[in-house]
Amino acid sequence: MSTRQVVMITTGGTAASRTTDAGAVPVLSAADLVPKARPGVTVHPVELMSVDSSAMTLREQFSVVRSIAESFADPDVTGIVVTHGTDTLEETAFLADLFAADPRPVVFTGAQLPADHPESDGPANIAAAVDLAIDPASRGRGVLVAMGGRVLSARGVFKSSTTAAAAFDTVNADLPRPLVADAVPSGHPARVDLLSLYPGVSAGTIASAIEQRAAGIVLAATGSGNTHPDITAQVSLAAHRGIPVVVSTRVPYGFVKPTYGGGGGGVDLARAGAVFSPWLRAPQARVALIGLLSTGADRRSVVDFFAASSPG
Ligand code: ASP
Repeated sequence: MSTRQVVMITTGGTAASRTTDAGAVPVLSAADLVPKARPGVTVHPVELMSVDSSAMTLREQFSVVRSIAESFADPDVTGIVVTHGTDTLEETAFLADLFAADPRPVVFTGAQLPADHPESDGPANIAAAVDLAIDPASRGRGVLVAMGGRVLSARGVFKSSTTAAAAFDTVNADLPRPLVADAVPSGHPARVDLLSLYPGVSAGTIASAIEQRAAGIVLAATGSGNTHPDITAQVSLAAHRGIPVVVSTRVPYGFVKPTYGGGGGGVDLARAGAVFSPWLRAPQARVALIGLLSTGADRRSVVDFFAASSPG
């Protein structure tokens, strides 16, 4: 039997952290995280960065995706594991999935408990991720997230618990996987602002995103995609300036679609030019818009991408 080669890209997070007087910080090297040797499998550690994922920049997130593409340039690589902090894993894993044209497995994992905790979940999660990365059944499934015994597609995944070992859930396990492009863009990532909507929100929140030259805006609206009528005029202003506005929701589960009127309802937002994200929640809708705008997508492509992201 030939040896299966797994590249393990490490980025920091709790799996690589120890507890210090100043809080848990990533200090373990990539080599420290390599799981116990098993016959026929070689794990090659690549230490890309060592950061808390809540502090990760967009450039760093794109560098993870580039590192995956570079690793797959070697035809002998069977699969890839990425260790990542859980706080923003849903964003980086999804960004990788937007460019995942190679059928070989890519599995993101992390930990809830630091490496020096007696019950640290990192080693078991990494071992499970390596198993998935060498499993032929993982091929062609897109980027996967393995955590606490659960395996989920990166598309639709979100952090659902700050403490549970199975830290992630999915809004919909059957989301189609339209790609943004085969090649990862090398230029400046587009700036996309994510704005949360709530009773009493200032309409100026969108105006200031426009002033600060956001290339796109994502709204975490209330319910099925609704807000105050004052926001609708601002959406219209953004649309007239050619800035795409994507509507998602702050609700974790269910479909988002224009249903209500009244000036600030989803029907009004759609008429003002907003694009609806039926399933991808605001953090992943933002990542999709970044991927699209960073590869020069026009409004039609943005509309098509979100339409193609809905099952059925
Ligand atoms: N703050 C940590 C991080 O995202 C949390 C974790 O890894 O679970 O890097």
